[in-house]
Amino acid sequence: MNKTEALIKAACKAQLNAYTPYSSHPVGAALCTADGAIYAGCNVENAAYPLGMCAEAAAISAMVAGGGRTVEHIIIVGPGSHTCTPCGGCRQKIREFTSTKGTTITVCDSKGEVLMSTTLDTLLPYSFGPENLSESSDG
Ligand SMILES: [Zn+2]
Repeated sequence: MNKTEALIKAACKAQLNAYTPYSSHPVGAALCTADGAIYAGCNVENAAYPLGMCAEAAAISAMVAGGGRTVEHIIIVGPGSHTCTPCGGCRQKIREFTSTKGTTITVCDSKGEVLMSTTLDTLLPYSFGPENLSESSDG
């Protein structure tokens, strides 16, 4: 099993545990860091809707808790056969931890079949990241 297959398997497994009593839209995500560690997450909804958490955010939280700081590749598994790309907030969350060589984003259907594979730069062009804060604004 190669790394992508391992990520798809982890994302599909996380999707099975998604907590989605309101939307019935379960999503799983799994990411790997530069050292090959895999972290997974699922969406967790809440009766107070805005407090729900996306699968990508949950996977990033698991990565940070585990000491990881770079997302080399993230796989998102959505329900059905439509392309469940990361929401705007998650694109920015991935951006915070993107690796110097960029982050690959792959979206799969509920069976784990790849629907699309792209990069964070494509989904979030001209993005704002940590390095933007350290640049002088007077120059
Ligand atoms: Zn999101």
